[in-house]
Amino acid sequence: MEVVEFACGIPQLLKGEYSDQVSTDIDLFSFRQPLGVCAGITPFNFPAMVPMWMHPIAIACGNTFVLKPSERDPSAANFIAGLYARAGLPDGVFNVVHGDKVAVDALLDHPDVAAVSFVGSTPIARYVHARGTKSGKRVQALGGAKNHAVVMPDADLDFAANHITAAAYGSAGERCMAISAVVAVGAAGDALVARLKAKALEIKVGPGSDASSDMGPVVTAQARDRVAGYVTRGADAGATVVVDGRQCTVDGYAGGFYVGPTLFDNVATNMDIYTDEIFGPVLSVVRAATLHDAIELINANPYGNGTAIFTSSGSAARIFQREVQVGMIGINVPIPVPMAFYSFGGWKASLFGDHHIHGPEGVKFYTRAKAVTSRWPEGDIAGTNHATMHFPTSV
Ligand code: NAD
Repeated sequence: MEVVEFACGIPQLLKGEYSDQVSTDIDLFSFRQPLGVCAGITPFNFPAMVPMWMHPIAIACGNTFVLKPSERDPSAANFIAGLYARAGLPDGVFNVVHGDKVAVDALLDHPDVAAVSFVGSTPIARYVHARGTKSGKRVQALGGAKNHAVVMPDADLDFAANHITAAAYGSAGERCMAISAVVAVGAAGDALVARLKAKALEIKVGPGSDASSDMGPVVTAQARDRVAGYVTRGADAGATVVVDGRQCTVDGYAGGFYVGPTLFDNVATNMDIYTDEIFGPVLSVVRAATLHDAIELINANPYGNGTAIFTSSGSAARIFQREVQVGMIGINVPIPVPMAFYSFGGWKASLFGDHHIHGPEGVKFYTRAKAVTSRWPEGDIAGTNHATMHFPTSV
């Protein structure tokens, strides 16, 4: 909804620049025009919100839009199409095409599609970017994440543990901005892990339709088994299992895709529970001696979507915000998703392409600029009939 509100101000955002009299009787101005047909390919985990990072801006900029939603929860796209139709959007401006790789490849190769916005996992983001740009399209492809929260010894540890717990286990960890790794610095470690354990054990797992549930199931049986497999491999690799979610059951939902909150301590950076995006309710604690070590560890990770620092030191926060190679940074804020009037995007393997999504960068992505050099000669004012062989021509 915030992106829609932002898009309602599009005349302000599309304004170009104007320079009067850059040479005698010559004005120079620029404006932006739509690209044509834009496509969006989106993941399962936010079936309404992620497409709405794209189509309100694309359409307000004057493009048409083809949405290919996730095949795992396709109905939200149809619902949005119905709302557009009720609002009077002409047929053909917002379109929904359902499917999987076949539909994605058709859009990536279609000569009439000018631009593709993709959000999903890193391997597919990399593929979409390569294939789309190869066929001459503008592509922004947002990928997966491994988001670290650094906890300094001077942080309020209760505050940090509360917020990290919500950020790790909210939506069963199926958020690209979920915190999945904690870097406990120096003396913060043991006291923090004790608090994280207590908070994880308080979480009530149950169906999303029950208002008293804190955390619901993961998306599919395969996702449940994949997450449980990571927990087993993490334990086998020597990480300390502080809370084990593998045996989680919910009364009345014997076949449900439930995994309980899981907490690991003493995780090493070569374990696959650390290197991989698990996309489930699994939080790994890594220990670091100093802030510098914590930043080095995050910068060595291939992902760079979001990160956060918990500290009471402005100096530590400032060093962190300047040195960490991540697109979205929280200072005592665990999930630093920017408001819609800023743009959303990660660095490194979390985004392929030049533009972040929605906000001012979205307007740039869905438009291209024209610069017009203009003169309206009347007779031979100041000798303007005289063309010289120089470049640029000016009198
Ligand atoms: P996914 O990559 O499996 O699917 C995303 C889209 O790509 C879907 O529309 C799907 O149909 C299509 N797709 C899947 N396999 C394909 C293939 N081989 N060829 C062409 N297209 C293919 O992602 P998902 O499991 O639906 O979503 C979870 C992932 O999305 C996580 O990695 C998460 O971090 C990421 N995500 C990132 C952001 C972000 O802003 N960076 C936001 C939300 C989700």
